[in-house]
Amino acid sequence: MRILVVEDDPDLQRLLASALRDQGYVVDTAGDGEEGHHLGDTEPYDAVILDLGLPEMDGLTVLEKWRKAGRAMPVLILTARDRWADKVAGLDAGADDYVAKPFYTEEVLARVRTLLRRGAGLASSDIEVGPLRIDTRAARVTVQGNPIKLTSLEYRLLAYLGHHKGRVVSRGELVEHLYDQDFDRDSNTIEVFVGRLRKKLNVNVIHTMRGLGYKLDEGAADTDADAAH
Ligand code: CA
Repeated sequence: MRILVVEDDPDLQRLLASALRDQGYVVDTAGDGEEGHHLGDTEPYDAVILDLGLPEMDGLTVLEKWRKAGRAMPVLILTARDRWADKVAGLDAGADDYVAKPFYTEEVLARVRTLLRRGAGLASSDIEVGPLRIDTRAARVTVQGNPIKLTSLEYRLLAYLGHHKGRVVSRGELVEHLYDQDFDRDSNTIEVFVGRLRKKLNVNVIHTMRGLGYKLDEGAADTDADAAH
């Protein structure tokens, strides 16, 4: 899952980005409203953390512009403490949730998980597919209760498929959500990672949909490519 953090306080931005990365997310950052608006307008984020007090363009304007342009990604706003009117204005402008500063990082992480889960229509932070369980709180994966050691990229891949389980996800979409904006993307490498992931999981849950992409579910394989899993 790919997340955008728009925060002008460099320490806070660094803190949030590193906490999110530790949770297995890919993170892009912006230090002012204009850059943040541009990124959110052009890149496909699974969630955005948006400070309201920003240079160049304030967070409320950024949010309004996104929503007016039909950008529907979940947005968590950061508001100053005691500025209840900001929370109301933010929610009215299309924010999905807010956290008041100063905050505990754990709370922001929990709210981000909730937004991602809600966006994916999931009822719990554990994603289960047959014997496979993805614990998105701890960024841990088990198969039949046995922990599976994954690299961060393998985890991101699986978590993204998990948030979209039952739906076909194209390689292009995976590339856009697994790497940050600076990464030199190559959708061919996805196939390699899927192969490794299948080997590590050793259960038939990632199905190749020929010419379309991949689907995570426990259902029967419906293309011949699955035979090679
Ligand atoms: Ca600020």
